[in-house]
Amino acid sequence: MKIIRKKVLVTGGAGFVGSHLCERLLNDGHEVFCLDNFFTGQKQNVIHLLSNPFFELIRHDVTMPFFIEADEIYNLACPASPIHYQYNPIKTMKTSVMGAVNMLGLAKRINAKILQASTSEVYGNPLVHPQPESYWGNVNPIGERSCYDEGKRAAETLFMDYNKQNNVSIKIIRIFNTYGPRMHPDDGRVVSNFIVQALKNQDITVYGKGEQTRSFQYVDDLVEGMIKMMDAPTSFTGPVNIGNPHEFTIMELAKKVIELTGSNSKIIYEPLPSDDPMMRKPDIELSKKELDWEPKINLDEGLAKTIAYFKSII
Ligand code: NAD
Ligand code: UDP
Repeated sequence: MKIIRKKVLVTGGAGFVGSHLCERLLNDGHEVFCLDNFFTGQKQNVIHLLSNPFFELIRHDVTMPFFIEADEIYNLACPASPIHYQYNPIKTMKTSVMGAVNMLGLAKRINAKILQASTSEVYGNPLVHPQPESYWGNVNPIGERSCYDEGKRAAETLFMDYNKQNNVSIKIIRIFNTYGPRMHPDDGRVVSNFIVQALKNQDITVYGKGEQTRSFQYVDDLVEGMIKMMDAPTSFTGPVNIGNPHEFTIMELAKKVIELTGSNSKIIYEPLPSDDPMMRKPDIELSKKELDWEPKINLDEGLAKTIAYFKSII
């Protein structure tokens, strides 16, 4: 089968998810422009791609306009870990909102399809469980997490309005907690924290009582969902949930990581951050129906791969 080589712009391409997406697009035979300001991403994540003539790495900040000829844009630029997006909340909001305006403006000018990496955070601390796309969420507009949650919600609004007003071909996916190789060891998110702590036989830091739940998705499943969404018919704009519906408490995760690493670490308790959602689990009926997508990699399998990665770097 002849491959049609598309030109694809990936913003935030040197980050955890972005680097896996760039790799997959190159493997599928496409030309990739990886744009990043290296706030939370690193060259190391894409260093193995630099020798590929169909890969270009561009240092740029999405809050500033950018021009390139491309067929598709994946807009991932935005810090995703609470400690990083709360470091400079005004910048986080600018990245989501001005980044969306700049990338949508580009998509409009060059007639490219554009996908937004939105988040389960748009549901806030949900009062509906599991969360279907039709749920509008329960978000604090003035709390510690608001710069990220409200920034991503405003970006969704911009995407829908560019579609309605300017006929830009848009796709919105709401990503639930994703983990895997190339998360930064100091990223601060729970899976990387627990694995690094376990491998170093340090205390495992459970926030609150560990009764809060999350549903963890391995990065390869997410990348498959992103590509399927981009390739879906134009009429299907989303938003669509992309996540793994198997729900675990944070305590269950801590125990699983200790077991799989054979660690001597002890569990300690630290205060629960404010507005930390008590539960989160995607309803994925829409992705099954419209994209024929559902996750394939279970937590044990994904954790084993992720632990092997962290063992190799620390
Ligand atoms: P990450 O922090 O590893 O990657 C984000 C990338 O964006 C980094 O390379 C960073 O340097 C870059 N970036 C940040 N601000 C930028 C700016 N102003 N201009 C250019 N580049 C900028 O996070 P990730 O986990 O890879 O997340 C990727 C995307 O997916 C984010 O938009 C995030 O909100 C979304 N998402 C991720 C998850 C998850 O669990 N990983 C869940 C929901 C949504
Ligand atoms: N968490 C924890 N210990 C850590 C890091 C996180 O108990 O060292 C908890 C955190 O309070 C939250 C859950 O794990 O309830 C997921 O946190 P993460 O930052 O990974 O993602 P998010 O809160 O954005 O879903």
